[in-house]
Formats: sequence, C-alpha cells, structure tokens
Amino acid sequence: MSMEREKRIQDYWDANNIFQKSVTNREGQKSFVFYEGPPTANGLPHAGHVLGRVIKDFIARYQTMRGYQVIRKAGWDTHGLPVELGVEKKIGVSGKQEIEEYGVEKFIDECKKSVFDYEKQWRKFTDAIGYWVDMDDPYVTLNNEYIESVWYILSKVHEKGLLYRGHRVTPYCPSCQTSLSSHEVAQDYKDVKDLSVTAKFKIDGKDHEYFLGWTTTPWTLPSNVALAVHEDLEYVKVQQDEEVYVLAKELVEDVLGDDYDVISEHKGHELVGLTYQPPFNYLTVERGHEVISANFVTDESGTGIVHLAPAHGEDDYKAIQDSGLDFVNVVDERGCYTDEIAPLAGEFTKDCDVKIIKLLADQNLLFSKEKYEHSYPHCWRCDSPLIYYAMEGWFIKTTAMKETILKNNQIVQWYPNHMKNGRFGKFLENMVDWNLGRNRYWGTPLNVWICDECNHQYVPSSIQDLKEHAKSGFKENLELHKPYVDKVIVKCPSCSNNMKRTKEVIDVWFDSGSMPFAQYHYPFENKELFHKQFPADVIAEGVDQTRGWFYSLLTISSLFTGEAPYKRVLSLGHILDENGRKMSKSKGNVINPMDLVEKYGADALRWALLADSAPWNNKRFSANIVNQAKSKLVDTLNNVHSFYTLYAEIDGFDPEKHEQGEPSLLDKWVLSRLNTVTQNVMEYLDSYDFTTGARELSILIDQISNWYIRRSRERFWSEGLNHDKLSAYHTLYSVLVRVSRLIAPFTPFIAEDIHLNLTGNSVHLSDFPKAHKEQDDPVLEMEMDRVLQVVELARSARNMTNIKTKQPLSMLTVVGSKKSTKSLEKYLYIIKDEINVKNVQLQEHSGNAVQYELKLNFPTAGPKLGKLVGVVQKTLQSLTPEDAKKVVEQGYVEINTPNGEKIQVEKDDLIVHQKTNQDVEMASNSIFSVFLNTTITDDLRKEGKARELIRAVQQYRKELNLPVEQRVNLVFDVDASMKEIIEQFKNLLQSNLLIKSLEYNKKDGMKFIVIDGAKIGIHVEK
Ligand SMILES: [Zn+2]
Ligand SMILES: [Zn+2]
Repeated sequence: MSMEREKRIQDYWDANNIFQKSVTNREGQKSFVFYEGPPTANGLPHAGHVLGRVIKDFIARYQTMRGYQVIRKAGWDTHGLPVELGVEKKIGVSGKQEIEEYGVEKFIDECKKSVFDYEKQWRKFTDAIGYWVDMDDPYVTLNNEYIESVWYILSKVHEKGLLYRGHRVTPYCPSCQTSLSSHEVAQDYKDVKDLSVTAKFKIDGKDHEYFLGWTTTPWTLPSNVALAVHEDLEYVKVQQDEEVYVLAKELVEDVLGDDYDVISEHKGHELVGLTYQPPFNYLTVERGHEVISANFVTDESGTGIVHLAPAHGEDDYKAIQDSGLDFVNVVDERGCYTDEIAPLAGEFTKDCDVKIIKLLADQNLLFSKEKYEHSYPHCWRCDSPLIYYAMEGWFIKTTAMKETILKNNQIVQWYPNHMKNGRFGKFLENMVDWNLGRNRYWGTPLNVWICDECNHQYVPSSIQDLKEHAKSGFKENLELHKPYVDKVIVKCPSCSNNMKRTKEVIDVWFDSGSMPFAQYHYPFENKELFHKQFPADVIAEGVDQTRGWFYSLLTISSLFTGEAPYKRVLSLGHILDENGRKMSKSKGNVINPMDLVEKYGADALRWALLADSAPWNNKRFSANIVNQAKSKLVDTLNNVHSFYTLYAEIDGFDPEKHEQGEPSLLDKWVLSRLNTVTQNVMEYLDSYDFTTGARELSILIDQISNWYIRRSRERFWSEGLNHDKLSAYHTLYSVLVRVSRLIAPFTPFIAEDIHLNLTGNSVHLSDFPKAHKEQDDPVLEMEMDRVLQVVELARSARNMTNIKTKQPLSMLTVVGSKKSTKSLEKYLYIIKDEINVKNVQLQEHSGNAVQYELKLNFPTAGPKLGKLVGVVQKTLQSLTPEDAKKVVEQGYVEINTPNGEKIQVEKDDLIVHQKTNQDVEMASNSIFSVFLNTTITDDLRKEGKARELIRAVQQYRKELNLPVEQRVNLVFDVDASMKEIIEQFKNLLQSNLLIKSLEYNKKDGMKFIVIDGAKIGIHVEK
C-alpha cells in the first residue's frame, strides 16, 4: 500500500522534474548551501547511511520550502586503498610487488572500472528513501578537473612552505603496506597478550656488568640503537650472584627481589655516554649503542632504562635524532626482517617475540620475560596488528596553522554543542602534521616533482602549468593518475636537470575535504558559483567524521582560504539495533534499510528516524519501530485524507466554488491548533530541533483524526450541503493542505499524495505554511484541552468497569476548581456524547463521593514518631469519614498524646487511599477528578441494547460494502422484548442508520447477531 503510493509519487516526480523545478524555481533567491559528504560507490549502502541521507534531505526540502535555493550536488569518493584491495582480490594478486608485475596501468584501469560497481544500488536506495540529490551531475574525485583543483590547493600549500618531506614513525599496516592516520588507528584497538622482556646489555669494558633494559616489543631489539635513562633519577649498581646490574633504584626490589647487594648509587646523568654491546650485533653503527637521556623515562615500571629503536617508536625516533645517533631499520615494508638479521630474515617481526627471547636466552642475555595484556591497535581494514614504523613521507604542516583552525572551529555552530570544544575541539588541540602521502597506486598523485641533481621541488598548480614545464612524457588529455603522470619528466628550473614525480598518491581524506572547491573545478571554472556556494550553511554526517570529513574540510579550507568551510555541523549518532547494540554481520543483527522501505514505506522509515530522538543521539532501529511510525502517523494521515476524499466526492464538494459555511466550535478549534502548531514547528525546525517539531505534528495529526474528525463525523454524514457541513469541508480541506505542507520535509511521499490530490500542485514546490494570526484562539484551545483531559479521565474510569461503551450511563461528576470547571460549561454536550452519559455535573468539591482511608507511612513516619506510632495509628483508625476528608484537605492530622501534648503528623507521612461508593468509578489528574456513576437502570439497559443493535447494523452495512450515503430498508427478526426496545428508540435508530423503512419479519440469508444472549436477525435492502 505505502509502496504503491510511493512508487506512484516517485513516477510523478520523475515525469514532472519536480526535484529540478524545486531548485530552478528558487533561482534568484538566497542560497542555502549544502555539501554532500561523498560516499564510496564500491560498497553497498547500509543502515548507517540512511540517517544521514534522511536528515540531509529533510533539511534541504525544508529550506527550499522556506524560500531558499538549495543546490544539491551529489558526490562520489572514488580513490583509496579499499578499492585497490577489492581489485587485488578480484584479479588474484596481493601486495605491491605483484601489482607491479601485473602492470600498474592495467591495475589502475581495474580500479577505475570497479569504482561504480554499486552505483545502481546507491541510486535505487537514494530514490527509495526520497533523498533528492543531483546524481546526474555529481562531483567525482577521480575526474581530471577534480584532481586539478586538488593540485591547485596543494601547490598553494607548498608555496606557503607547509608541504614537506620527512621521516615519521607512524602506525603502519604491514599487510596493506600503508601507514595509517591517527583517526584510522583509533578505530580498532583490541586487547591482546604480549611478552615484555628485560634484557641484559653488556657494559663496554666491564666483565659481568650489564644495564637491564626493558621493552614491551622484543621484536624491536635487533633495531636497538641506544638505551635511555632519565637524568634526574636515582640508579644503582647491584650485585646478584655472579652478575652486576645497573637499574633504577626504585625498581630494584621489583626486578631483583631482596637477594642483592648494592655496590654504588648514581644519578642518571652519570650514566649518559656509557657504551654497551647490543644484544644483537648484526648491524654496525657509526654512532650508537650508548646511554642517552630522555624525559619520557620514569621509574614507575620496567627497570628505569628503556631500549630505543628509532624505526619503531615516535619517542625513540625523536630521542635518537636529538642525540645525533644513527637511524637504523631492519624491517622491510612487509613488516619482515631484512636479510641483515640472518636468523630471522623474511619472518614477520610481530610474530618473532618468542624467537627473539630464545636468541637472547641462548646468549645468556635474557634476564626475565613476562606476559602482559594490553590494548593494541589493529588495521581497521584487514585486522592485521599494526606496527610502528619509520616511513619517509610527505606531510602538511597543519600544526603551523593550528591557531587559524582552532579559531575557525569557534565560529561553527555544532549540533550537539558539546562537540565544538569536546570531541572535535580536543582532536584539533592534539593535532599532528597531516601525513599526506600514501605509497599506493589508486589515488590523486601527489603533484611534486623532484630534481635528480639538486633536489629542487616543483609543484604544478594546473595541467597547463605542468605542460609548460614538461620536458617529455606529457600527452594531450593527460590523465592525472599513475602511471601516466609518472611519465612526465620536468626540466629543473634551477639546474636544468631532469625532475621526476615523487611516487606517492595522497590521503583520500584530502580528496573529499577539497570538495567545496574541487566540486566546481575552482579556481579554473565556476568562480561565481563557487562563491555563491561557500561556505556551507550546514553539513550533516556521522559522528565518526570528527576525525574524517569534518576535520579534512576545516583543515583544507583553513589552509587554502583561511576560513571555515561550514557554518553548522550536525554530527549524527549511530544506528543501533533494537537492544541498543551496534549492528554487525557477526552479531547477525544487521538491518537492510531497503527491506524496511519495501515493507513499511520510506515515509515510515523517515518518520521513525526523525521523530524518535535528536539526530545526534544513537538511534535504536528495528522493523518494529518503523512499523509503529507507519501505523501511528502515515496510516492515520492517509485515513484522514481518504475520509475527506470519500465524502467530498459524494457531495461534489469543491473548495474553490462552495461558500465557506458557518464554522463550528470544533472548526475554530482545529484551525487554531493548526495555527499554533504551524508557528511552533517553524521555530523548532529553524533551530534544528526536528524531534520536537515532529512530536508537535504527531499530536496535531492524532487530534485531527481522533478528535476533530471523530467529533465531526455526523456533520459529514448529514444530507445535502448545509452551512455546517460546508464549514466542515472547508476546514478539513485547509487542515489537510496545510498539514501536508508542514509534514512534507518529514514524509515527502504521503504529503505529496495529499497535496497533489487536493490542490493539483506539488507540495515540494509550495512554501512552508505561515501562521494565520486571525485564526489564533488561545482560550478555545485551552478550554478544549481541558475537555480532552476530562474525556481521557472519564474514559479510563469507564475502562475500569467492564461496561460496554455502547451502554449509556447516568451521570459523570467532574470536580475541580471553580475556574477550571467553568471552562468546561460550554462543552458538556461533547463530554456526554464521548462518555455516553446522560448527565454531566460540575462541582468544586467532591462531597461524599470520595472517602479517604488514612494509614501511617512507616518508613518515613516511624523514625519521627518513635513510641507514639501506636497512638497515631489508633487515632487514624478512629477518624470519621468527615474527619479523614478534613485531614486530606488541611494536609495534616492532629494527635493528642497520652501525656496531654498535641502533635501534628504531616500528610507526607500518611498513605491516603481514596475509596468511592461501590457504584462509582473515579479517576483524577492534577486539575480534575471525575466520578462515574455505574448504576445501570432498566431504561439505560434498554438504550444500551438499542445502541448495540445500531452498531451491529452499521457493521453489517460495511460488510455489504454499501455506499455510506445509501438509504436502506431494514428487516429485523427479534423477540417481543427487543421489538419493544426498537420501538422505544426508533428515533435513535433513524438518525443513525439512514433508514427508508423498518419491519419485523423473517428473511432468507439473514445476518444473525447476539445481544445480551438474545438472537437477532438482520436484513438490509437497498
Ligand atoms: Zn591492513
Ligand atoms: Zn635541479
């Protein structure tokens, strides 16, 4: 049903270019700028993508209806390692060497082809959830124009001296053979067991004297260059058995136990400069294997002497550099030992801890080993443990721009607000230089050419620039990818020798973060359009983009323009399963959003996401929740629409032609409500509070359906087009038109269906409704709200009895303050009808309708009263109903104690039970108490039966599919007592059943029902 409707609306949008019109219609209006965070099309969309796309569409539709032009350019993120890994798998190669053997050009071709493998599914998914974005003219990060803009930006960064080549010890995946940025590392920590080692480093020139050095990564011992101590720490030289050890004084007992003799004590600085024999002597160093001082050394763990391997630790690298010692690296790009480490050559380092320990032991250099558990980073792509590895690479000196970036962040409005100085702000505070280069193939080639001779760097700012400097290898229509750009040789402007491009491609986050500029091929084209579309009014993506797109956009724009690229960021929560767990294949709790759309419709899916909670909260998500949104909101709205259409057709009602009629109280009320909600929803949506806006709408739609329409039904059933009915039609018509506009950004399909049907125009080309001040009637709204409260209370009182709703009752008493009961006076007929009572009376006091039973609340009163508990209990038991009532009203009870004193016990220390007479049910809230008399007199019983009969006939008419306006001949087969009832309530039957004639007879094929044990035959004839 919803699928059929949504398909029909989708076809209408397509056939009439409604999306395109919604943009072109606003030509010349102010822009509301929206940036699309580009997904990759080499994987399928999943539940996590739904929230972002729904929110983005919601905002764009809303701002369009508010009068802005919202250009919605789609984008595709196309480069990067995941694409390469996919291709490797497909063509059956693994690692860089095999790629080189396979041929880089062929490999790149395969990457290019695979990039849009799932584009069709993405389009289908995007259409199905009603996300309007221009997928026919997207920005694509692999296009030459896009890359040229990125090159331009990088040339400016280089010009400022912020692009540099350096060594950096970074987390590195030996399997993917690439270093990972800090945001990637943060994604996958696992608890693992490793071995830590205390090794003996023989001090030069001494026999049996050793430094005890400690490491948590034994596999780095062959790369040892130095030992580090802290200058100011106390160290000791001690003897244990035949050996002499040097270690931190604080740690002696931890390491050696209590069986040792102290020979001497030393400050750390006294040890600096001493040399030693490394445990593995496969390497020779010019400067190294000596003790240096480093501030990060402590005496809180290990031995207070730290083994340093500059290739495998950031601290190590820096300390070795500062001391001017040699850099060594005995691990290749696959994470394996090089041939220099003969016994372990070619073995994966991270797996060699045990072998290293054995080699140490063989040389009698192992002091001790220990198992320990810690949280260790793993590759988020391939799950391999990462190693720290010194890579030569390219960096952007973002740290030099830190102040600008921090300042720009302060201008941004974050949703939720705590992101600004919390998760995002902290990430910025701790920024390190951007590790830009990747030693891979499929990416934007880093546009740096380096001279073979003089090391001069040349960074072309455009294709034309490169062409002008090229010596050879430049072809027209040069594709800006490997291996084509690598063939271009440039003449060195400084020494005229050959320059070659450095081999790296760049981090894909630099691609997507350049989109504000590169999507329009700025500055080569579209300058005016770019300025119109910069900065973004809002971007909305998952909170995980803190370290991704949110960061790269801000950083690149700060580098390039000095300004923030966005004014607002909506940082969206995660989609969780019904029990609040992350969705994952291994848990088997993954929900395919397309299944939900097919089953419940996109409107229901969107409503479930938007109305549930603020967009930045994690969202529990399940078929059940979407199903509820469908039945509570979408179906209700659809039923209201169908109701209107049905009767408007019967009466040939035309809002253009027919006069307004005479508005009833209900008409005025619903229009005033509509007005209030219109005002509120606009305010909420303007401040990005979608959830509260959705809740207001949800209450309104419920009130339209379950109050306005239900209370107005008979007006639509009446014959002819009288003034009252005309007003009902006009009112419902304008309510539906306006509600469809209010809800259009939330549930675009059903909104379009209603609006199109009622007005002939697309709701998405209309304006968001404005409040009509003249329809405001706050007093009426307040009064009706009171009526609704009383009805709700009375219904719950009725529900406590087992009396059928069709059974009239004699009396409802409403008790409340004079002011609040006064506001009900005009509406008693509504309450009577709703509750099916003959009379409603209003009272200020409950009189004797309620009795109170008072008991002591022991947990609170016991400690206060002590011994007096017994006396108080006795007094409470002996209170007359009048006294008990007085206690409740005055809020305390006065007690005479045995020694003649008077004490007061407060109401808070009492438990108050309300009791009504046996034939009275009561319910109350903070304003009203209602008392429902449940005595059923003989007359009431008879009328109840008559009403049961009416309901049965109405039901039967429905089963027969009779047109609602069809008048009928009724034949009943009943006993004498029922006949008497029917005769007595003939008027009631006539006013409810559209009767032409009524007779008592038997007929073939009669429908039989049972009322109070009596069998009744019904026959209905046209
Ligand atoms: Zn990996
Ligand atoms: Zn040169």
